Amino acid sequence: MGYDVVVIGSGPGGYIAAIRSAQLGMKVAIVERYPSLGGTCLNVGCIPSKALLDYSEKYYEAEKHFAGIGIAVSGLQVDFAKMIAQKRKVVQVTSKGIGFLMKKHAIDVHHGHGSLHDATHVRVEPTDGKTVVLETRHVIVATGSKPSSLPNIAIDKERVITSTGALALREVPAHLLIVGGGIIGVELGSVYSRLGAKVTMIEYLDAVIPTMDRTLGRELQKSLKKLGMVFHLGHTVTAVQRTGASVTLTAEKERTPMTVTGDYCLVAVGRRPYTEGLGLADVGIVVDRQGRIPVNDHLESAVKGVYAIGDVIRGAMLAHKAEEEGVCVAEHLAGEKPHVNYRLIPSVAYTWPEVASVGYTEEALKAEERPYKVGSFPFMALGRARASGDVEGLVKVLADHATDEILGVHIIGARAADLIGEAVVAMEFRAAAEDIARTCHAHPTYSEAFKEACLAATANRALNI
Ligand code: FAD
Ligand code: NAD
Repeated sequence: MGYDVVVIGSGPGGYIAAIRSAQLGMKVAIVERYPSLGGTCLNVGCIPSKALLDYSEKYYEAEKHFAGIGIAVSGLQVDFAKMIAQKRKVVQVTSKGIGFLMKKHAIDVHHGHGSLHDATHVRVEPTDGKTVVLETRHVIVATGSKPSSLPNIAIDKERVITSTGALALREVPAHLLIVGGGIIGVELGSVYSRLGAKVTMIEYLDAVIPTMDRTLGRELQKSLKKLGMVFHLGHTVTAVQRTGASVTLTAEKERTPMTVTGDYCLVAVGRRPYTEGLGLADVGIVVDRQGRIPVNDHLESAVKGVYAIGDVIRGAMLAHKAEEEGVCVAEHLAGEKPHVNYRLIPSVAYTWPEVASVGYTEEALKAEERPYKVGSFPFMALGRARASGDVEGLVKVLADHATDEILGVHIIGARAADLIGEAVVAMEFRAAAEDIARTCHAHPTYSEAFKEACLAATANRALNI
């Protein structure tokens, strides 16, 4: 037998599964069809989008807020080509880092299209070179996802683009149309709005980031409106037509049509699992209606020894969820008893203010008819937020009405992405709101807002409001 584990796909699910398997003494290979390791997350997802979010936020701060705090700036301008080049450099260096980690753990890297020859053999077809077949005791499929589109929209990769195109434009659009007000829409909409583009968002449902607690979407929309973004919620897009350098979008709401024209249209209506050419059917794996590989509690597919993790299976399409699953499968193969707590996978939108959420939403608690208490605290009342001038947003804590156990935490505000970590830890240890309310938090910090929201949830005793 050649390998203990062959992983197909080098995204955060795949490369973490490979590393953990190697740490546990297994002989491991990883197969990646692109020359660059790291998958969607590193090449065209989390990392490049966060780079552009941070660069554009720095520019926006300098342009809009520096004068107000006594910093005079003259000659401020955006060198967009340099911004994109710097983003590319960050991606390249980070991808090289993964190559280094593979070497460090003696993981063989095979570049080429991977497919299942059978349950114990993976075929690797390089774009140039000879096909090889790797023999293995176990396979982990971590092939991720690709952007979805709509039947009436043709992605031309020039003017009608997905997130991949939007992360590599040659110019700041004059008017960017965005179909979909989910996480990609609000993040990339923020980037281009801050850099001076007019941004118009068309969303099918009646809220932005509609899967998160509705308070967050409402508050975020207010902040994005201040940036200048325009929203058409509750609209169904009926056509997107490119003519030369312009794109015209038509949509309707309750049979009333609307038309809007811009120079680029970003289609961000979700992603679909990527299983093309994997040979799943040949080995007896039938994907579900959404195209995902069905797996059991150990993330094993219908075929013994073939596991699947990350965006290609059920659950949130998030890098940290894929990573947890990668560790989980490796440890299971080594005979350990790992688990993933799917209730506590945090979700974050890296807008400004940031949005972060974990656990039950208020809507889900109502649907389950579970009695709960709410404690909220606005950043406006927080010393640290006032000192920094970042006063937008709030922390909302949902706790069980009878036991006081924290069931959900929803934050919009500065540094929410980092603040949510405390909530996840508290909930992992099944803390009550009272436990956090009685825990000393450093002053002045943003984390005090979580403590104050917990005080508010327990008998309405927030101290600073
Ligand atoms: P992927 O990262 O998609 O990796 C799969 C890999 O498999 C790819 O490299 C692909 O080339 C390879 N592959 C596919 N088929 C084959 C084959 N047959 N043979 C060989 N190789 C193959 N998530 C977050 O948690 N935080 C964020 O901030 C965030 N930002 C995002 C921003 C954008 C713009 C996008 C698009 C996504 C973002 N995501 C974010 C989602 C995140 O990127 C995905 O959830 C994550 O990458 C999934 O990891 P994965 O390992 O399952 O798959
Ligand atoms: P999404 O599911 O977050 O949002 C898609 C949005 O498009 C939804 O609000 C949906 O109602 C809307 N929509 C669907 N059909 C529509 C139509 N016909 N007209 C108008 N609107 C329509 O998907 P996304 O924003 O494309 O992101 C894809 C995935 O990538 C998500 O699962 C997300 O978790 C992940 N991602 C995560 C991050 C992060 O963690 N910060 C960032 C980017 C992407």
